Amino acid sequence: MLKKYLFALLILYLSSSVAIAFPRNDSKPGGVAIIPVAPASTGKPYVSYHARPVALVKGKRNWLAIIGISLKTRPGTEQIKIRTATGKVHYKKFKVRAYHYRTQRLSIKNKNKVNPNKKSQRRIEREFFIKQKLRKTFSPNPPRLNFIRPTTGRDSGRFGLKRILNGQKRNPHSGMDIAAPRGRSVKAPAAGRVIFTGNLFFTGNVIYLDHGNGLISLYAHLSKINVRKNQWVRQGQIIGKVGKTGRVTGAHLHWSVYLNGNAVDPALFIK
Ligand SMILES: [Zn+2]
Repeated sequence: MLKKYLFALLILYLSSSVAIAFPRNDSKPGGVAIIPVAPASTGKPYVSYHARPVALVKGKRNWLAIIGISLKTRPGTEQIKIRTATGKVHYKKFKVRAYHYRTQRLSIKNKNKVNPNKKSQRRIEREFFIKQKLRKTFSPNPPRLNFIRPTTGRDSGRFGLKRILNGQKRNPHSGMDIAAPRGRSVKAPAAGRVIFTGNLFFTGNVIYLDHGNGLISLYAHLSKINVRKNQWVRQGQIIGKVGKTGRVTGAHLHWSVYLNGNAVDPALFIK
């Protein structure tokens, strides 16, 4: 009995002394802001940003809101809404700094991937709503912020690059590209639940993982998918293989990270 009790105490001690890994606090368009919202001695508050719930972590001294800032946000002042455990509502402002993302010009051989025909356009519209819903997923479990790189390889396209495809302006790059040969393993950067697998027009074979509290990650252009929807994966588990499906110039992993629905720079989550 005593042994059991001491063991439980030891586990409690170990789990409370493990430092929480945080993404880099970099409040810029496409960045992450970490903001203290209430003393850790009080109950869990509820925090929202642009009317969407945000991830919360209990730090040593404070409850911390981990906020994803959209690439479209203009530098200046933003605010979050905080509802304390006792029901009091107040607002807190934070600054978003200016940041210049570079331009990348790419040439895509498959013309339909740049200027899709009617049939492809209908497919893109359908998939747009599926993708919107997936990146806005918010589950109550605490966020798994401790990430490892999902695969090895050269960074071949950083997050936020303003893209010119075959001479035409397109949306900025919503993730990080890692150039790697077809068939190289892709690992889950943190534990999570598979919320989608399938083949989409731009992303090709793709997996979405839910790491809790609105922290979502995506793996695109895969040659192989090793997991099923609703499956739980552990950190480092092989979830698929690098490929060149969808809109690509060659084999690589496109990796996106979303926080409260906004694409943020995955580089902020790894050392
Ligand atoms: Zn990409």
